[in-house]
Amino acid sequence: MAEKSALIETRALVKTYDLMIVLRKLDFQVERGEFVALLGPNGSGKSTLLRLLSGLSKPTSGAIFIGGWELPREAAAVRAQIGMVSHRALLYENLTARENLQFFAQLYNLREIDERIRILLEQVGLSKRGDSLVRTFSRGMQQRLSIARALLHDPAVLLMDEPYTGLDQDAAQVLDGLLTQAYADGRTIVMTTHDLERAARLASRAMILSRGNIRYDAPASALDGRQLSERYTEITSLATAR
Ligand code: ADP
Ligand code: MG
Repeated sequence: MAEKSALIETRALVKTYDLMIVLRKLDFQVERGEFVALLGPNGSGKSTLLRLLSGLSKPTSGAIFIGGWELPREAAAVRAQIGMVSHRALLYENLTARENLQFFAQLYNLREIDERIRILLEQVGLSKRGDSLVRTFSRGMQQRLSIARALLHDPAVLLMDEPYTGLDQDAAQVLDGLLTQAYADGRTIVMTTHDLERAARLASRAMILSRGNIRYDAPASALDGRQLSERYTEITSLATAR
């Protein structure tokens, strides 16, 4: 019997730091091919959730499944399916763009990678700067290289933590194109952002995290930026009025 299950699933996921409860029995499901915009005020636990999903951090209790693998027990299998872009670039400044990608390819045990690196550098618009040191890169270029790094092992899932932060208009537009392409390629994307207009435009689904749980979950296509912004204000002001 074919089993219908979400690509990403958490069950009663709890994360606490000391006495502070960040995620409160969170049930979160994402189907293959969805593009989820994960919204919520600062401190609502968005980065915490992405770090848990990527296996960088361990749940206090509850379960996480990605592609049927369970975290943290099967972290290696999960990591093979995930590309993570955090707001810190996680690149080696004193290596060139190409050397950075070669380094991460070795970590993933990827072989015969030169052609793939060439294609990725082209996709993210860095062909001409492949042999420049990363420390000479603008924030936008570093962000694009981070995306190339995240795509290196051809992951099914992209987790992106505030990828637009610090980007100028042009760089943000390039990133729009990369994400639209990743979504069209069938990748499953979970992206945190404070840019509600962009979330409504790019994502297929919008979720609002507040008070340790998902307080809103709707198809993004049903909303424009202004409507999403109204829902957001309602939900997050409820949280602070408590
Ligand atoms: P967001 O990404 O939505 O802004 P975070 O997930 O970064 O929120 O943080 C959620 C809460 O957990 C915040 O109150 C933050 O201070 C706290 N927190 C996050 N990481 C740690 C940590 N490593 N140790 C202690 N507290 C943390
Ligand atoms: Mg964060």
